[in-house]
Amino acid sequence: MTTANLLDFDLDGLAAFCERLGEKRFRAVQLFRWIHQRGQSRFDEMSDLAKTLRAKLQTTAHIAALPVVSMQASADGTIKWLFDVGEGNAVESVFIPESDRGTLCVSSQAGCAVGCRFCSTGHQGFSRNLTTGEIVAQLWYAEHFLRQRFNTDERVISNVVMMGMGEPLQNYGALIPALKVMLDDHGYGLSRRRVTVSTSGVVPMIERLSNDCPVALAVSLHAPTDSLRDGLVPLNRKYPLAELMAACIEYLPKAPRDFLTFEYCMLAGVNDQPEHATQLIELLQTHKRRGLNSKINLIPFNPFPESGLRCADRSTVTAFADRLVAAGFVTTVRKTRGDDIDAACGQLAGDVRDRTQAQTRMRALREQPIAFKPREVTP
Ligand code: SAH
Ligand code: SF4
Repeated sequence: MTTANLLDFDLDGLAAFCERLGEKRFRAVQLFRWIHQRGQSRFDEMSDLAKTLRAKLQTTAHIAALPVVSMQASADGTIKWLFDVGEGNAVESVFIPESDRGTLCVSSQAGCAVGCRFCSTGHQGFSRNLTTGEIVAQLWYAEHFLRQRFNTDERVISNVVMMGMGEPLQNYGALIPALKVMLDDHGYGLSRRRVTVSTSGVVPMIERLSNDCPVALAVSLHAPTDSLRDGLVPLNRKYPLAELMAACIEYLPKAPRDFLTFEYCMLAGVNDQPEHATQLIELLQTHKRRGLNSKINLIPFNPFPESGLRCADRSTVTAFADRLVAAGFVTTVRKTRGDDIDAACGQLAGDVRDRTQAQTRMRALREQPIAFKPREVTP
């Protein structure tokens, strides 16, 4: 008999599941807290749940952690995990510690169908959508692993960015409950400002997100004109800039802050020239007049062999940033983190560059128990 993976449920979903077992909502709340706040995966350890409920859970439910294929730690403290999601597919999550926050970069799909020119995940093609449970499992594992590693009961991950592998808004149905688990006070209790969905511009879903779960939004722009963006982000042919910017304007009143972030990956000789900065300023100024405040995040391109592209050099990036700042736009240049372990933006490829080897390694690892055991918690 297949049993339910409780990581697939937000609190309402878990309450509905518990109701089917004849249990009240407050039992679902207790269970939810055991799972997400304490990292407990064994029902027999959930000591304040009635024995009868624990017995019912044993036969109807489970908590499906993702097997860890590998974990790499960078010299700068960044940690990358490769998780096995079956049938030769793997997804990556990256923890980025900073002095005032701990950010987890989470994947939403195995591969990606958008196929951006400069993205390693895009080059790999699309395998499948992750389930809610698989998205949540990345946070569940990382948070409780890190608490153990740092020997703390305090929360370690304060921010989540949906900037790992995949286009989150092309996996909308699974994304929303996962975001709700992150935000729920009985779950991870993250504020809407600290959970960011990054999208290449799936216009209809931007509107839906504003109604269903308006977290912070980052839009991967990368080009100031349709002709250039068509070549870099193929989705632009379906949802051109005018539509994308209009969706952003609509989103802003629901957004947790009074601006949206635009990501712009700096590619040498492609989109990094002074005329591109001028066009970008024009685009953003036009939309500012329509009420859209924006912040620009310049991302130095992280090269990978198949791309045939180069990163803009440092002085070009600085000159580009200076132009934007002079025009009145808050502009940041993203620090590259974890590049010694291929954990930087766009380098996440789930190791499929060598699928055969990855599959062999995964088969071997699947036989082994997972490295992390949730800590024994005495309530
Ligand atoms: N699919 C979503 C989220 C995942 S990609 C999106 O495209 O927004 C997260 C960010 O990394 C995006 O801004 C993306 O454009 C950027 N990125 C992709 N490949 C990159 C690379 N090789 N170097 C730098 N940034 C990259
Ligand atoms: Fe997909 Fe984002 Fe990569 Fe584009 S940049 S291929 S949308 S993951």
